[in-house]
Amino acid sequence: MSQELEPNGRFQEVAIVGGGILGMTLAFRLQSQAVRVTLIEAAPVTGGLTQSQALGGFTWDRFYHVILNSDQHLRGLLQDLGVSHLLQWKTTRTGFYSDGKFHSLSDTVDFLRFRPLSLSDKARLAATILYASRIKNWRHLEEVTVTDWLRRLLKELLDGLCNLVPNVLERLFGFLEPFALRVRA
Ligand SMILES: Cc1cc2nc3c(=O)[nH]c(=O)nc-3n(C[C@H](O)[C@H](O)[C@H](O)COP(=O)(O)OP(=O)(O)OC[C@H]3O[C@@H](n4cnc5c(N)ncnc54)[C@H](O)[C@@H]3O)c2cc1C
Repeated sequence: MSQELEPNGRFQEVAIVGGGILGMTLAFRLQSQAVRVTLIEAAPVTGGLTQSQALGGFTWDRFYHVILNSDQHLRGLLQDLGVSHLLQWKTTRTGFYSDGKFHSLSDTVDFLRFRPLSLSDKARLAATILYASRIKNWRHLEEVTVTDWLRRLLKELLDGLCNLVPNVLERLFGFLEPFALRVRA
């Protein structure tokens, strides 16, 4: 939504629907160019997926988020907002909770030691990660769900092996589906 154009071809007044990080960033950028902005948000508070919530006296991300050194656009935005000095950089580690225990999965050694997966499951997961890390053109993946992509990839990778190892495809899908659903969620 927008109103009259100024002689220089820019809008004087703009309404933005959605007060998530995208809408708020756009509002901030436009406002700093002297455009009048109205932000329309359906929820009681702004933030969208980046909202926080109070839990046991702490304020937490409602959905887990991490800011990495490589997030240059976000770091630039925080700089422009004057809050980048509040960032505290910590080493990021990843873990899974399984069978009543936390298992670190942050480096190759952790991966080899990771008890919730058998050796063959690890080999299958490693092959998928290796393949995915070599994809250069990601644009066509925008149209595909993770589950469909994994199914297609694994079918291609394993079509030849299927004759040798009965039921391997079915077992592979069974193993990867929870990962796919988690990534998709
Ligand atoms: C578990 C999880 C972890 C994530 N971790 C990361 C991370 O580490 N790093 C990262 O970069 N990204 C991460 N993301 C993704 C990131 O949160 C989103 O990409 C980003 O917040 C999307 O922002 P957005 O403004 O586009 O949309 P949203 O945050 O969805 O905001 C849309 C807003 O529009 C409002 N709205 C919708 N329809 C209307 C309407 N008709 N009228 C008025 N208001 C409306 C909604 O209420 C909402 O507030 C994660 C997401 C999830 C779920």
